[in-house]
Amino acid sequence: MQDEPLSLATLLRHAMTAKADSEVTTWTGSEVRRMTYAEVGRQSGRLANALRALGVEQTDRVATFMWNNNEHFVAYAAVPAMGCVLHALNIRLFPEQLTYVANHAQDKVVIVDGSLVPLFGPLLPALRSVQHVIVANGDPSALEAPAGVTVHGYDELLGTQSEEFDFPVVDERMAAAMCYTSGTTGEPKGVAYSHRSSVLHSMQVCTTDGMALSERDRALVIVPMFHANAWGIPYAALMSGASLLMPDRFLQPAPLLEMMAAEQPTFAAAVPTIWTGVLGQLAAHPQDITHLREVIIGGSAVPPSMMKAFDEEHGVRVVHAWGMTETSPLGSVAHPPARSSGDAEWEYRISQGQFGASVQARLLDDEGNVVPHDGESLGELEVKGPWIASSYYSPDDTAVEPEKFHDGWLRTGDVGRITPNGYLTLVDRSKDVIKSGGEWISSVDLENAVMALPGVVEAAVIGVPDDAWDERPLVAVVLGEHANADAEALRTALADRFAKWQLPEHWAFIDEVPKTSVGKFNKKALRAQYADGQLDVVELEGPTPR
Ligand code: ADP
Repeated sequence: MQDEPLSLATLLRHAMTAKADSEVTTWTGSEVRRMTYAEVGRQSGRLANALRALGVEQTDRVATFMWNNNEHFVAYAAVPAMGCVLHALNIRLFPEQLTYVANHAQDKVVIVDGSLVPLFGPLLPALRSVQHVIVANGDPSALEAPAGVTVHGYDELLGTQSEEFDFPVVDERMAAAMCYTSGTTGEPKGVAYSHRSSVLHSMQVCTTDGMALSERDRALVIVPMFHANAWGIPYAALMSGASLLMPDRFLQPAPLLEMMAAEQPTFAAAVPTIWTGVLGQLAAHPQDITHLREVIIGGSAVPPSMMKAFDEEHGVRVVHAWGMTETSPLGSVAHPPARSSGDAEWEYRISQGQFGASVQARLLDDEGNVVPHDGESLGELEVKGPWIASSYYSPDDTAVEPEKFHDGWLRTGDVGRITPNGYLTLVDRSKDVIKSGGEWISSVDLENAVMALPGVVEAAVIGVPDDAWDERPLVAVVLGEHANADAEALRTALADRFAKWQLPEHWAFIDEVPKTSVGKFNKKALRAQYADGQLDVVELEGPTPR
């Protein structure tokens, strides 16, 4: 067979010719801006020529500081295709983290959305490697350039360029794109995706047991393009010709639903907290969303009650998936086995799912022994495969957290069990597991159970120190507007689901669960609020000390 390198340039060429009529569409709050993939190809040529004219060479990092929109998609297409590395910056990181990340990645150019100039401007003087800033969808003169940096307007810069660019086919092991983890533990860590891993991952996303993306789809990409490359959907769209719907900065439930009504997506992807908001909005303002053939939810555990609400109240199928920035991110997807039905089918659907054929998984106990896939034995999940990181990016080749990688496996920090037919169920992140009297309590199980109770909008569970038991669970609950459940009633409602010693005695009623920069429950922040005495805790009687 021919040893043809796998390349994102090949995907771009395919999209702009074979899928020329597919479209990327950006919502502007009331109307849309559309671009065909033929035009994406032409704009990619102009952007590549413009970058080259600025002195950008192969392997240079070109960063984006943008919402999900047409221009961001063009950068996704053009930058790797010209042999450079696309680095989507997480606009929601703290300024110190953003500066750290851009300096660590040695970004040379940053493409900034005009609406984000006020956020980006103050960071710019601290970005040591940046030479050029390109402002898209806004006024470049709004950005003050420090010495050594030139600011350009996107349209002016691209307007004078030819649309022809001979995209090179580079070594498939070269970096094509990079993302940093959100830094909930320590400094954000960089993961570099190669052309090879990106193409193979795109194939996995397009498989029927992945996200089944095809030219017939209109995929609403709510997951930010800086969160694990929007879960690989943009490159899978170049491969499959799926059209993309981009919400730009209109990420609240009401405008998202307005965009859905106008554009009728067949597919959507986002973390659970977005869908909690969408469900709430739908309850207040009913709307038909059956145009969605499937909604992929991942990034944290999907409460089964949410899945059932979409299924039963809105006729929309939610598919649960697991992954990490380090796994490109698609690891496992919860499509139930063909011959399952009823409760058994639901068990599969609420699990984190089955791994793709190229991803291997194993579970290790505390002593480092591999535990069986018997659906019961718990262990820390480790994975390996062609789109799983083998190290973190390091500009000077000093290993970053080498303990996360051993014997060719990635330690995920997730604890769970795997069935004989390969379905993963996660019980917790190892740092969130609650150890009470030497036994584990799954914070995720408690959260799912509390979120299934009437009146509860969100619930996050953390372990808090306890003299007799080491740790005990605290439930932070957000109630709906008219709900008035109290701690005792909520705990009583859990009594038939959990052993007595697992039932939580600490309850805090809060207005909002703190969220991370990618919209997950921020348990670190919640633990800090508890430690600082900021939570108003209702104390019930706990289990009797032994
Ligand atoms: P960060 O680590 O910065 O939050 P990632 O998105 O890379 O960013 O996080 C990956 C982690 O998210 C996984 O290790 C796991 O703990 C959690 N996660 C992802 N998907 C799921 C899921 N479906 N169920 C439970 N946890 C999940």
